Amino acid sequence: MKGNALSLLTMLAAPLLLAAASPALADVSVVSSDYEEAIGLAKSNMMADAGAALEHARSAGTLIEGDDAAALEARLTAQWLEAEALMRLNRADEAASLLDTALEQASSQFAGSKLHADLQRSKGSLSVHLGEYGTALSSFLAAHDLYHELGEDRSRAIVLQNVGSLYSDARDYERVLDYYRQAGEAYPEDKALALSAHNNIGNALKELGQFADAEAEFLEAFAVAEQMGSPVLEARILTNIASTQFLSGEHDKAEATVQRGLRIANESAPEWLPFLYGVRAQIALARGNSVRAEGYLDLTFAGEELTTTSPYFRDFHGTAFEVFSMNGDDQQAMAHLVAFHRIDNEAREISAAANNALLAARFDAANRDLMISTLSAESEAKEARLDAAQNQVILLSASAVMALFAFIAALIVLRTVNSSRRGMKAANKQLTHVIQHDALTQLFSREHFRDRLDEVVTIADDAATPAIIAFIDLDRFKLVNDMFGHAAGDELLSKVAQRFRETAGEETLIGRLGGDEFAMLLPDGMTIEQASDLADKIIAAVAEPFQVGEFEIQIGASIGISQIDHVGSTSNHMTNADLALYAAKDNGRGTYMVYEPGMRERLEDRSNLERDLEAALENGQLSVCYQPIVRSEDAGVMGVEALMRWTHPERGIVPPSVFIPVAEEARLIEKLGAWMLRSACAEAARWDDEIKLMVNISTLQMNDKTFLNVVAQALAASGLEPSRLVLELTESLILELDEQTQELLTGLKTLGVSFALDDFGRGYSSLNYIEKMDFAMIKIDREIVQSAAAGSSRSQAVVTAIVALARSLKIDVTAEGIEQEAQAKVMRELGCTCFQGYHFGKPNSGTADFDAVSRRAAA
Ligand code: C2E
Ligand code: CA
Ligand code: CA
Repeated sequence: MKGNALSLLTMLAAPLLLAAASPALADVSVVSSDYEEAIGLAKSNMMADAGAALEHARSAGTLIEGDDAAALEARLTAQWLEAEALMRLNRADEAASLLDTALEQASSQFAGSKLHADLQRSKGSLSVHLGEYGTALSSFLAAHDLYHELGEDRSRAIVLQNVGSLYSDARDYERVLDYYRQAGEAYPEDKALALSAHNNIGNALKELGQFADAEAEFLEAFAVAEQMGSPVLEARILTNIASTQFLSGEHDKAEATVQRGLRIANESAPEWLPFLYGVRAQIALARGNSVRAEGYLDLTFAGEELTTTSPYFRDFHGTAFEVFSMNGDDQQAMAHLVAFHRIDNEAREISAAANNALLAARFDAANRDLMISTLSAESEAKEARLDAAQNQVILLSASAVMALFAFIAALIVLRTVNSSRRGMKAANKQLTHVIQHDALTQLFSREHFRDRLDEVVTIADDAATPAIIAFIDLDRFKLVNDMFGHAAGDELLSKVAQRFRETAGEETLIGRLGGDEFAMLLPDGMTIEQASDLADKIIAAVAEPFQVGEFEIQIGASIGISQIDHVGSTSNHMTNADLALYAAKDNGRGTYMVYEPGMRERLEDRSNLERDLEAALENGQLSVCYQPIVRSEDAGVMGVEALMRWTHPERGIVPPSVFIPVAEEARLIEKLGAWMLRSACAEAARWDDEIKLMVNISTLQMNDKTFLNVVAQALAASGLEPSRLVLELTESLILELDEQTQELLTGLKTLGVSFALDDFGRGYSSLNYIEKMDFAMIKIDREIVQSAAAGSSRSQAVVTAIVALARSLKIDVTAEGIEQEAQAKVMRELGCTCFQGYHFGKPNSGTADFDAVSRRAAA
């Protein structure tokens, strides 16, 4: 049996939570002493009696008068404590709504204050409570940054421990180590924190199989516990030490530690007796004395109902299964087996959920899809509510019920054949199958895949050829669920799994990691070239249409491939494959990529950029350049395109082709885009009335309902005539056109602004929708322009077609990227009505010098 994942991690972290809960009190002079007393009582009661704490927090809330800033801060402090109390009383929903409003107010009124930070941290704890690990992670990290700014090192250390314990739920022990170590460095002075850090680091090392180091950490924790004079903590830690010693095969030492623990526990920490006897039973079993082991187990489970034991008993159930099987008590053995699986399943579910959420949160920046889905979450949530009843039925019938039936079947088998050893083995096998396999696709479950991967990773250094893993993500699967419903989605997934099996062959181990994510462990001895061939085959197989019910559905697959060429950690290897997968998706989907170390660096570099970009706007690092667009007939300036510039303090000028995608992924584009519109409109209001202002708009901005307001405000504030504003949109918008975007476009048109289609020729280049969309201008992409000017007949044909269409619609066509007069000449002959390019004027900071531009064009 593996070490107990749930041992003491959470237990020790819990009592420390409130230690940081000392709010920045409002200006003391304006709040009454009654208020302060109530707040004090709320805090002191929080750990022992959350009900009383709740009463006090609420009464504090009623003792505040006035509505100035100090009163508001006092009120928020009371609300914060109320939420903390509600959370402890398991009234998470009430706590959540209270906390969300308080947090919103604090972040607008008291941004950066301790109260703000404390609320962020509470939000993190609450999210853990609700199983929302992604939100928890980002809340904790936000709180961490605030504490850091404030120099609140103790609170910062606690938050780092919070993050560490998140990762321990996810069983990502490298990160557990990392965060607890950071916590220790952030605030080494505090005994309780140090104890918790040593203990948690010890547990993580134990999980990673580094028993000697784990023991050393536990011994440090023990020393602190002794200093603190806490026998309960001493007994806890001795249990951990004994268990570690047992796992490293040092039975005598373990036995001695158990006896020392028993002495303390018998005297003043009886709650630890069961666990100490559990370890003792494990030692006895290992020494071959199953009768003695059974005796100890009786003490471990005395007074426990086997169907409801706590997670801390998991491994002891495993031991008990073995012991009772050996001693011929099949009925008891079975009961313990069932209990083991009950606890183990719960833990696996938690860790899978935590893992997925945390991974998703980490990749937030790198994954545009995820962001878009978050953006549209609101409208989806609405739909989901409407469909809830229906979907629930479908979902249940599809996968959950299958899993449930299989599990119950296994249990029934277990119950009925209890007298026969062989029957028991068969039942256990069946149970194992249920646990190891994904019910829907019959592929291996995430957990089992990971376990198998663990084995491969451990022997990586000795392998003749490195093992290869491939992570597969389906393209457009979400759309299938949305369009055809979850039942169709489920059926599709199981058909995809079937194709995987057929294409990859029997020797490939295939797992479903969750949702539409799959993983393969390729057969021994396969080379990267062979793996690449296989990836191509898989992509081709998935691209073939699927018949699902009456629908023919077409999807695609992206694949990330990675070699396990050194021992390292399993989660690291999985992240590598994930990174390659994201690179493949970035590359336009329907492709595979092989992992290379640069990918990791790029991700980190990206997240640095993202962080800097957030501050860039506030620090005045962003500016606007203006580039003229001239008429081809008289060379007069008809419009000016505004282009964003970022001067980074260390990197120098960062081109928009680099930072705009980052801004989009980090959801900063709305902010930057709004700033851009305000600045450019203000500038353009000073120009000649004839000259239009062209502003680039990211598709993501158009997903946001408030965009209409942003435009209206920019126009109102600047006094710019709406008819002078042209928004440059790209084809991707039209591809994603839904009802809401359509409404937004209509609204903008009603305001009086017009649209240009930007970068035509770069994307799908379909003429179909141009008529529908009512554009005032089409801008032909620089590459097409330059290749048409260089004589490419294909590019010339594209330009000719677009010009013909534009003529019939009486709209302008701009050729972008004109660098030489010769290029202008060809494009003029092909019928383009406007030009843009270095030949007519480079993007210029400040106001464009229009006279100079016109003169040069006329020359
Ligand atoms: P774009 O909309 O196609 O903008 C034209 C780009 O071509 C600009 O690059 C401009 O400097 C460059 N350019 C103009 N004439 C020539 C030429 O003769 N030769 C060559 N080689 N290049 C020329 P820039 O400023 O680097 O912007 C790149 C892209 O970043 C823009 O492409 C646009 O898609 C995006 N972008 C810039 N500002 C914004 C913004 O405020 N919002 C959004 N959403 N995107 C922006
Ligand atoms: Ca543009
Ligand atoms: Ca363009």
